[in-house]
Amino acid sequence: MAYSINDIRDLYFNCDLSYLSNSANKICEKNYGNKIFLRGLLEFSNECKMNCLYCGIRNDNKKLKRYKIGNEEIISIIDKIYKKGFKTFVLQCGEFLTIKLKEICDLVYKIKNRYNDIAITLSCGYFSKKELKLLKNSGVDRYLLRFEIADEKIYSYLKNGLKLKDRIEMLYNLKELEFETGSGFMVGLPGETDEILMKNLELCYNLNLDMIGIGPFIPNPDTPLGHLKPKPFETTIKLTALLRIILPYSNIPATTASGTIIPDGREQLLKSGANVLMPNITPEKYKANYLLYPNKICLTDTIDDCLKCLNLRLNQIGKTITFDIGTSLNYKKEKYICH
Ligand code: SAM
Repeated sequence: MAYSINDIRDLYFNCDLSYLSNSANKICEKNYGNKIFLRGLLEFSNECKMNCLYCGIRNDNKKLKRYKIGNEEIISIIDKIYKKGFKTFVLQCGEFLTIKLKEICDLVYKIKNRYNDIAITLSCGYFSKKELKLLKNSGVDRYLLRFEIADEKIYSYLKNGLKLKDRIEMLYNLKELEFETGSGFMVGLPGETDEILMKNLELCYNLNLDMIGIGPFIPNPDTPLGHLKPKPFETTIKLTALLRIILPYSNIPATTASGTIIPDGREQLLKSGANVLMPNITPEKYKANYLLYPNKICLTDTIDDCLKCLNLRLNQIGKTITFDIGTSLNYKKEKYICH
């Protein structure tokens, strides 16, 4: 079904939360059953050359101990987590400061040669089309790059003059190069209005995203926006439900920020259209320094603790974990891959 911005606006303003959540859950279960895909999230470096106003790993935050996990150690972490059943690994870091593109290409090439039944997702910020081609050739399957907010002025203010159109251009480049493409936004950034939220949804829809990650903005006291208050979580639930309705075949994670802002935040999103969880597989000695926002959950959990906890939580809402590689049905449809 095709949606215009007016249809999206109509759903947002005229339908109540429980109606939208129930409809989204039905659509999700029709397409993905009650299965929740797991992705192992490895935050392999907190170095970042940027100074985004909202982000705890911004370069000017001198309170963090900076780290960069070397390729050999990354491979041994992946070996260990693969043995637990994981088939998708998300490698995330700040914008490259000392890391070289070649290091990442070599890493991905080695991992993909080791295992032929896994998918690698990168989330390392902005790259040119030429750089993306190198990443694609090294074996990267999926890429996550949130556009953060679909408003040129606020985007530029939050990211020290960078242009939203360049971020969007990269997302179109990812699609053209046939990456499974993910993006999304934060909810509750300063200056955000309902109209901007509608533009966020419209942009996700127009990009026909394969994966959409949204989450509440959580003010971090060690950033220039530390004094702000987060928006009520209901808005994130409503927007998740709307995303499922307008993009029925996309993968939608229940993000860590949602579980941080409210104890059962991830479950609430999983009951409202989300179908992916991304347990953190970063070793404990590094995890506490990838502090985008305060009170981040699961900082001392081992992967076994984490799987036990998620199994219990999913059980309570009638869902179940799957270790399936979990390619987005949206991507499969676009590429005419049968399933
Ligand atoms: N450097 C890459 C990038 O910018 O795409 C990936 C790492 S970045 C830290 C990952 C995501 O964290 C951002 O896209 C942003 O949406 C989210 N994030 C950063 N600070 C946050 C905050 N204070 N609250 C919630 N989410 C935050």
